[in-house]
Amino acid sequence: MRDATRTVHHPVVPENEYASLCVPTHRASTIVFSNASAYATRSQRDLDSYSYGMHGTPTQRVLEAQLTALEGGLRTVIVPSGQAAIAVVFLSVLKPGDHVLLAETAYPPVSGFCRNFLEPLGISWSSYAPGIGAGIETQIRPETRLIWMESPGSTTMEIEDVPAITRIARSRGIRTGIDNTWATPLLFKPLSHGVDFSMQALTKYPGGHSDILMGSVTVNDLKLRKDLRDTMRMLGFHTAPDAIALVLRGIETMAVRIAHSGRVATELASGIAARYPVEVLAPSLPSSPGHDIWKRDFAGASGLFSVVLPPHWQERLDQALDALSVFAIGASWGGTRSLMAPMSIAGQRATFHPRNDLTILRISIGLEDPDDLREDLDRFFTILAST
Ligand SMILES: *Cc1c(COP(=O)(O)O)cnc(C)c1O
Repeated sequence: MRDATRTVHHPVVPENEYASLCVPTHRASTIVFSNASAYATRSQRDLDSYSYGMHGTPTQRVLEAQLTALEGGLRTVIVPSGQAAIAVVFLSVLKPGDHVLLAETAYPPVSGFCRNFLEPLGISWSSYAPGIGAGIETQIRPETRLIWMESPGSTTMEIEDVPAITRIARSRGIRTGIDNTWATPLLFKPLSHGVDFSMQALTKYPGGHSDILMGSVTVNDLKLRKDLRDTMRMLGFHTAPDAIALVLRGIETMAVRIAHSGRVATELASGIAARYPVEVLAPSLPSSPGHDIWKRDFAGASGLFSVVLPPHWQERLDQALDALSVFAIGASWGGTRSLMAPMSIAGQRATFHPRNDLTILRISIGLEDPDDLREDLDRFFTILAST
């Protein structure tokens, strides 16, 4: 063997006494085969096996298996973002002529996907109010194939009656999916409530450090996993092993982070509700929509809640946000740093509610000392309330 060849042939070293607590980061585009017949028959390999880096390396299989165990499912797929996870579910279920029912409180880019991507393909959609429960029956059309839930809803935090919706969907042969990003499978297990597709943005709590984007979908049915994988293959969706390694690291501390952030968020949310003339939207507060269902179905609260600001506070909002010293201003929550983001739901909701025209402040609680957060919130609300 000459030098140029030596530079590309890595020596094999013994690994027999090597053991570590870390998951190795396996990067690959090429997967090599032990002989010609293994290569010729590679397309017959099981979806859990390896044939091309596009479809995952052992690093990805570890994350898939870990999420599958947490969700109580059968298989998980990993995709490059939360939004991609939603798109893959929709595209694996819906064909031209089909109809999808969407919670009007779903992550806003989902209705954008329906309007701008699915509609031109001949797939129709309509939205329903998050408190609908068994009333979903009246919204179902003969061509409805999928019901997409999100609980709590984006920004306004309504809890949906998931078992009531899945019971009706199952009796009609309609698939259901849910965006479970707020709760993660630590606080709510959608598959045990009859949901077919449990999706989460790993970008948030599992990643946990505001530095990666990723999504997952867990199912209880190998046929659904195959449909998801077929869609991913046709679209060329691949998720980098280095990013997956960061999620595998993040997930190790997720239970402790969510327990802490959820406890502090509930304390701060009830403090704000008691002291200021605002509506606080946090599933763990009895005044929040769907609180009783949250108590029935969820194991706890995570760190995200919202505050509806009275109209006359609008004028000083920028000044109050600029005075923050612990909270950062930004979206994409679930990291170690606490965040605030002023949101508007105007134009996103079909059902009328007086709050639709107001600014809603989304607050994500991170891992700072709760007293520092309380002081920053006091400063913030004192500026707003001085109008
Ligand atoms: C962030 C988020 C998404 C999208 O995740 P990305 O990884 O940013 O694409 C979807 N749903 C919810 C509820 C989210 O908070």
